[in-house]
Formats: sequence, C-alpha cells, structure tokens
Amino acid sequence: MADICAHIDGVEEIKHAKRRVCEECMKIGAQWQHLRTCQSCGATLCCDSSPNRHASKHARAAGHPVVASAEPGERWLYCFVDDAFAEY
Ligand SMILES: [Zn+2]
Ligand SMILES: [Zn+2]
Ligand SMILES: [Zn+2]
Repeated sequence: MADICAHIDGVEEIKHAKRRVCEECMKIGAQWQHLRTCQSCGATLCCDSSPNRHASKHARAAGHPVVASAEPGERWLYCFVDDAFAEY
C-alpha cells in the first residue's frame, strides 16, 4: 500500500453514493460514463471519462481531494491532489 497519501489515509468510513446519478449532469441534462462519490461531502459526480468531468472539477473547486468509485463491484479510492489510488 505504498501509494496511499495522507488524504486517503484520513478516510475512516467510506461514503457511498446515495443515488447512482451525477448530481450536476442531472441539472443540465448531460450524460456521464462512470460515477465517483466525494469522500468529503458525499456528492456523487461523474468521472474524467465523462464530457463534463464533474468529480475532478468539484475536487479542485471545493478542495475535496478524495473520491470513491460509485460503480458496482469497484472498491477503490482516488486522491486528485496526489494522484494516489487505493483499494479497500
Ligand atoms: Zn492525497
Ligand atoms: Zn457530471
Ligand atoms: Zn465534496
């Protein structure tokens, strides 16, 4: 587990998606590819493969570094600040 940064290390309880939709894409009627859940505030947003990249925009704008995958069967965390990745 050498790639874990302090942000990921600080996540004690994984926040899961309340609904499997991108909250921002829903507002503008956009499509998304994959979903990520912010581990600071619990917002579920779309990944960098999606046209609007709401998760990474949110991470920068809100200063919330860590997301968890909200895709079924995926169990990992990612830190945008450190480009660090960890399975759980
Ligand atoms: Zn980090
Ligand atoms: Zn989105
Ligand atoms: Zn957040």
